Amino acid sequence: MNMNVKIAPAAPTATDPLDALFDTMFRPMDAQGVYARTGAYESVVEALVALITSKREADTEVFRFPPVMSRAHLERHGYLKSFPNLLGCVSCLEGSEQEILAQAGLHEKGGDWTSGLETADLVLTPAACYPVYPIAAARGPVPAAGYRFDVACDCFRREPSPHLDRLQSFRMREYVTIGTPEQVAEFRERWIVRATALADELGLPYTVEQASDPFFGRLGQIKAFSQLEAALKFELLIPLRGEAAGTACMSFNYHREHFGTTWDLRHADGEPAHTGCVAFGMDRLAVAMFATHGASVADWPQGVRTALSL
Ligand code: ATP
Ligand code: ZN
Ligand code: MG
Repeated sequence: MNMNVKIAPAAPTATDPLDALFDTMFRPMDAQGVYARTGAYESVVEALVALITSKREADTEVFRFPPVMSRAHLERHGYLKSFPNLLGCVSCLEGSEQEILAQAGLHEKGGDWTSGLETADLVLTPAACYPVYPIAAARGPVPAAGYRFDVACDCFRREPSPHLDRLQSFRMREYVTIGTPEQVAEFRERWIVRATALADELGLPYTVEQASDPFFGRLGQIKAFSQLEAALKFELLIPLRGEAAGTACMSFNYHREHFGTTWDLRHADGEPAHTGCVAFGMDRLAVAMFATHGASVADWPQGVRTALSL
């Protein structure tokens, strides 16, 4: 018997308890983390959307963003310095009709039609709040009361995984604030309270823990450490696999003046604005509902169904 067998804690095996829920929630689409969603699953997502909308603060401006955004904007955000490994970039066949047909025709001949792709000016949006900062900046100085936005987007991150709580294409909903450090701190504190109350309403067990972003590379570890030290990110983690570490289903982020200086988003006195956001992983929350309460929505606790009007 080999005594040196290493057991990887999150090994992608057929024994992931979430796998038993696959047919209830998804159908395969020939790619890890890209799934067709069943009606049962989607009705839960829609109910969660409505519940989160019902918690929206007054004077919050709504935007819904397309799943692609300006590549130049994302470059300016500094995304390539932090998460180049997660980025998806749009590329297309460009040129004359003849050139495009010739390139596309390679496929029929067993050739590689993708060799002729040209990089477009678009990337796949990796987080719902990125497009809002340039929109706010274009308005001039930030009003004294600050801004509050409600944004949502289909997001893409290149992190293929067999685990049903880590998708490449997923929905993110966010409440975003732009203002003074005090305004942003208060916003985040309010939302941690409100979000945990929401998890209670949904009958979801959770912990709220300090976290860091998955910055890429060795330098990224240093960034992650200073992010932890400054308590810039908290996550609401829901246990989806018994005793194993929970899955981040919401995050509470303080960006300090990063987006303020990047977008020249300033207060009337010229000081860069601070920003923060609370992000709801809509697909993760829906998966958490099925993992916690079971495959049959009709059998979920009455209080939970009432909260969701299901
Ligand atoms: P994780 O810690 O799981 O890697 P993250 O810290 O990168 O996630 P954020 O950037 O804070 O996540 O994104 C906001 C929310 O979006 C997360 O709390 C999570 O609920 C959701 N989310 C992020 N990545 C994914 C993914 N690959 N699949 C599904 N939901 C995701
Ligand atoms: Zn955000
Ligand atoms: Mg995280």
